[in-house]
Amino acid sequence: MNGFASNRRVLVTGGAGFLGSHLCERLLSLGCDVICLDNFFTGAKRNIYHLLDYPNFELLRHDVTFSLYVEVDEIYNLACPASPIHYQFDPVQTTKTSVHGAINMLGLAKRVKAKILQASTSEVYGDPKVHPQREDYWGHVNPIGLRSCYDEGKRCAETLFFDYFRQHQLRIKVARIFNTYGPRMHPRDGRVVSNFIVQALTNEPITIYGDGSQTRSFCYVDDLIEGLMRLMDTPDQITGPINLGNSTEFSMLELARKVIDLTGARSKIVFKPLPSDDPLQRKPDISLAREALQWEPRISLEEGLRPTVSYFESLLKAETS
Ligand code: NAD
Ligand code: UDP
Ligand code: UDP
Repeated sequence: MNGFASNRRVLVTGGAGFLGSHLCERLLSLGCDVICLDNFFTGAKRNIYHLLDYPNFELLRHDVTFSLYVEVDEIYNLACPASPIHYQFDPVQTTKTSVHGAINMLGLAKRVKAKILQASTSEVYGDPKVHPQREDYWGHVNPIGLRSCYDEGKRCAETLFFDYFRQHQLRIKVARIFNTYGPRMHPRDGRVVSNFIVQALTNEPITIYGDGSQTRSFCYVDDLIEGLMRLMDTPDQITGPINLGNSTEFSMLELARKVIDLTGARSKIVFKPLPSDDPLQRKPDISLAREALQWEPRISLEEGLRPTVSYFESLLKAETS
């Protein structure tokens, strides 16, 4: 990456989670001082064990809904449960994490004049009526449904970021992340990639919700982290929101077949009811990321699924031994 200063002090909230742990790892490899903050709701110590020996790595058990006083140059705000099972477990806490968490991290950024990046989501587009989704699409979101604590929480966080930008001249970056997968995903987060792989590795039936024709585009974690770091590194006038994700679209039926092929599973495919507000189609338009960040995903679904399958294989082995 161009011009990446290595001595930056970087705070990663949600740093013990799936994306956060990969981000901490990359930042450390570049020589940054990293504070990894997490309340371990969905994150896990095993995700960051291997980082604890780094002299420039610090782990902080903290909840972003409470204020935090540290001195840093950059903040990546990733703290928030990301899978429906987890964010619907305590929906009020989910909204608090997005909204109070954003206020606290923005307040911190304001005090120490840090640059701050928000991990927003494609869910701000809801069940989109425009396909593929561009950043100027305002979305089609149910404000009172089961997904609303997450979707509206993230939308409100974006609002706060842009108000702190306009009102307090904060240096903000907003990334709208589309479905991302890879090693260190939570094995029981109910997400389609982890579900299918775990089901295949245990020769259990592969559960397709609905008829499997709904689509998603899956980005491998390394590509996504590269995109986030490039966004953080852009000049101040680039605020986003910027879509980050893979634009190759697959139906859930296609994904199931790929996972079965790759694992050689004997699993059957079974069909279950579609959850409420489940978007039918999702695919990012990443023209802006291509132009502003010179970024696009490089890792194909087949390439990315292999290390993901190996990760779940070793996790399942460790759990049963
Ligand atoms: P994750 O659940 O693995 O990570 C979230 C982390 O935040 C966990 O370690 C969790 O313990 C921590 N956390 C939750 N509430 C907290 C709180 N109140 N205080 C402190 N820590 C808290 O999920 P992930 O997939 O790594 O997602 C990271 C971020 O990226 C989230 O903000 C999510 O909304 C966003 N995102 C992820 C995806 C994806 O496909 N993985 C897609 C869109 C957006
Ligand atoms: N805050 C924080 N760390 C800081 C500064 C602020 O956690 O270093 C939190 C604090 O809880 C505050 C919130 O961020 O309420 C918003 O801060 P801001 O300065 O924008 O607003 P105010 O303090 O005036 O409410
Ligand atoms: N899905 C599925 N089987 C599963 C888990 C999920 O068919 O075991 C479907 C789900 O209904 C959705 C898609 O896969 O249409 C992606 O679901 P996920 O929860 O991974 O992500 P999101 O809906 O947030 O994009």
